[in-house]
Amino acid sequence: MNSVHVIGAGPAGSVAAISALREGHRVEISEEHSVPGFPIDCSGLISKDGLHTLSDIIDYKKYSLNPMHGAILDFSGHKMKIDAKKPIAFVINRASFDFALSNKAESEGAKLTRNERISSQFRGDSIIGADGPNSTVASHFQFPKIRRFALTARCKVRYDGENQHFIRAYLSNNASPGFFSWLIPHNEEFAEMGTGTLLPRNPLPALHSFSKRIGIQLSKEIRFALIPLECRKKTSLRSGGKNILLAGDAAGQVKSTTGGGVFFGTSCARLAGKHAFTPELYEREWRALYHKDLRMHKFAHFVYGALPDPALNLAGKTLSFFKIERYLEERENMDHPTRILHPRLAAHCLSALMQK
Ligand SMILES: Cc1cc2nc3c(=O)[nH]c(=O)nc-3n(C[C@H](O)[C@H](O)[C@H](O)COP(=O)(O)OP(=O)(O)OC[C@H]3O[C@@H](n4cnc5c(N)ncnc54)[C@H](O)[C@@H]3O)c2cc1C
Repeated sequence: MNSVHVIGAGPAGSVAAISALREGHRVEISEEHSVPGFPIDCSGLISKDGLHTLSDIIDYKKYSLNPMHGAILDFSGHKMKIDAKKPIAFVINRASFDFALSNKAESEGAKLTRNERISSQFRGDSIIGADGPNSTVASHFQFPKIRRFALTARCKVRYDGENQHFIRAYLSNNASPGFFSWLIPHNEEFAEMGTGTLLPRNPLPALHSFSKRIGIQLSKEIRFALIPLECRKKTSLRSGGKNILLAGDAAGQVKSTTGGGVFFGTSCARLAGKHAFTPELYEREWRALYHKDLRMHKFAHFVYGALPDPALNLAGKTLSFFKIERYLEERENMDHPTRILHPRLAAHCLSALMQK
């Protein structure tokens, strides 16, 4: 039996482990914390479609805090509401979700060692680095670096309970350069409030201004965390007779536009477990299935970051002019820009123009 050593028991690590077990490999996981899922560096917003892809592993409904029907986007003063009138995403309890995924990996036969930080003591014939944005595995094996990160600051707040099923995102390169600010309701009383900025900028002053702007007081406990904003140029290699694969944030498999990484990270991790002994197949397959979407997110993020606030405001007004919110409501798609840029989009814009 071949052995696989997974580093990190976040969602990517647990899914990679389960996938490798289902291929008949012996799997062990090393997690530096005592409880997988703590501390939580995530807002927990995952598309319904994305959660469905994990339905053979976990019943996501058990971990849902709040169903989300859409978003209210603020383009530097111009507001756009996208309302699908039914749940298209869920805010999940990431701590219990991660914990349940790691339990599932253990119940399927993985040996999980807690409180074990791996720096060089790799075991197994195949090593899967699912150790997050500061991946030790990637540094140790000298994978190409990720150069663009957002630094985020966020906290739990009390809010007025309005628009409980809508994410609020505030786009302004003046206020939060290169990223955005958000309010994500968890229930009718509490929400997560956060701001991200492109490194090396500090998001804390932006979070304070955001709090003043929307009139919601920050709580004392503010957490900071990194989000990778690009994929590594290479995510697998062979070294000293071992296969080394990276998955999830360690590989940069994250939507640069929103920072959402659970769907793409776990989808790629599943492939990493499947191809743990054929790294070139892993690289080829995840890029064929997901890289085009991830590249489009990166491109959209790049364009967004280059727009001064008046141009962002104009972009928002232009999107509303063409009733793009109606189009997005019909598509119900948060993850795949390739499915949004469809000939139907041109037809939609034409019909919106003719109705003017
Ligand atoms: C503020 C913020 C908000 C976010 N919101 C969302 C969201 O709403 N929706 C979404 O889809 N994504 C969101 N993300 C991104 C999401 O959290 C990540 O994409 C996701 O957690 C990546 O999963 P992972 O398993 O690759 O890495 P992680 O979740 O980071 O897990 C890595 C694990 O490896 C362990 N580890 C690290 N180094 C070692 C080591 N050397 N040895 C042993 N163990 C190690 C860590 O303890 C951790 O448990 C957000 C991120 C941030 C920062």
